[in-house]
Amino acid sequence: MRRSLLMRLAWRQSLLRLLLLYSAAVLVGWWTGQMAWVLLIATALVAARGYWRLFRVLRFLDWRKQLRTVHGQGLWAALETLIHRRQTETRARARRLVRLLRAYRQAATAMPDGALIVDRRDNHLIWFNKSARRLLGLNYPHSLGTSLLETLSSPAVSEWLRAGQTEEPLMDVPSPVDANLRLSLRLLRYSPDQWLIVVRDVTQLMRLEHVRRDFVANVSHELRTPLTVVHGYLDMMEPTENPEWAPMLEEMRKQSQRMNELLEDLLTLSRLEARDHLTDEAVAMEPLLITLRREAEALSQGRHTIAIENSAHCDLTGASKELHSAFSNLVSNAVRYTPTGGQVSIRFARTADGGAALSVQDSGYGIPAQHLPRITERFYRVSTSRSRESGGTGLGLSIVKHVLGLHGAHLQIESEVGRGSTFSCVFGAERVLAR
Ligand code: ADP
Repeated sequence: MRRSLLMRLAWRQSLLRLLLLYSAAVLVGWWTGQMAWVLLIATALVAARGYWRLFRVLRFLDWRKQLRTVHGQGLWAALETLIHRRQTETRARARRLVRLLRAYRQAATAMPDGALIVDRRDNHLIWFNKSARRLLGLNYPHSLGTSLLETLSSPAVSEWLRAGQTEEPLMDVPSPVDANLRLSLRLLRYSPDQWLIVVRDVTQLMRLEHVRRDFVANVSHELRTPLTVVHGYLDMMEPTENPEWAPMLEEMRKQSQRMNELLEDLLTLSRLEARDHLTDEAVAMEPLLITLRREAEALSQGRHTIAIENSAHCDLTGASKELHSAFSNLVSNAVRYTPTGGQVSIRFARTADGGAALSVQDSGYGIPAQHLPRITERFYRVSTSRSRESGGTGLGLSIVKHVLGLHGAHLQIESEVGRGSTFSCVFGAERVLAR
């Protein structure tokens, strides 16, 4: 509203001025008898003034200076007022943006976690905060433009960056400043060509994890000897000597056997957790499949139909004892969670990406979908009573997950309640060994 009033006044003022000037020129021309000359001079004056104001405006804009507050009326004054107003608004907006940017930077700098912005194509550092300097030993500005892989030169980090993992953080990475400082890296894809990497100090967490692991391993180890003694004495006791004790003895033997299995599984899990890699060897799959079938038949005692199928015609590289234990766990689960008359199929086949997968399919009870995300956690059971009755320790799938993790493989589970489940151990192409 104010602006249109300003424009209207400006136009009115300018036209009035022109009218007055030319009226005066006509009067002078008439009085002097030099009408043409006087009109020409008046027009030249109007043009000269116009050019002078234009020159002023252009000079200010060229020098990126702010136009001064304009006093006066008319079209030129209106133009300068409008430019002045736009400049003031733009400057205020720029100041607000700078303040906001500064606040963001200060917040990012004050964060206890390290934050890095990395170019996705070449992993070059574009920006990092103060905590990143402390945790990774970066220095400003020398580290800018260098590759993150120069700072964190570990195969695990380069593999993780290449995979562009976004969900799972990379845990337990030693800091280049001090190897006792353990870090976790989380990658956030926040723009198409940049990554935000959040670095967190997880030394304390790793220490606690270590303590927990040692504690479980030590307790399991310490319990082994007394349990062996109890087990030995129970074996020596003959139920025929005291027939009334027979059911009690039977139960005690069963329970001590269960405790033994539990301890063995806990020790296996601790041993796996303590390793970050296993020794690779060629794992011949054909005999392994035959052994798995034999184990399944022994466990099933003729209650199920067991089938094996090998369409992969290749072997695997890995730790054969651990892989056997993982596959055995899956086969044992398939038999234990499939009612009499069901089928268990063990298949070894190639995958589309050149890898291979060992799957164990059963026609058993199946697992409700809501349990699947947690099924590989320690002691997680869908039905505790069914697991116990069938002799489960609740640690089988945790062992499978750990063994596969150490082989860079993963467990895929498909299951439908009442129809059965398929557990597949999926190996990458690098684990496949041509025969
Ligand atoms: P458990 O020793 O109890 O079998 P696992 O870790 O091997 O422990 O399995 C965890 C749980 O997953 C089991 O208690 C069972 O509820 C479920 N489960 C595992 N395999 C199967 C399967 N093939 N069919 C149905 N449920 C299964």
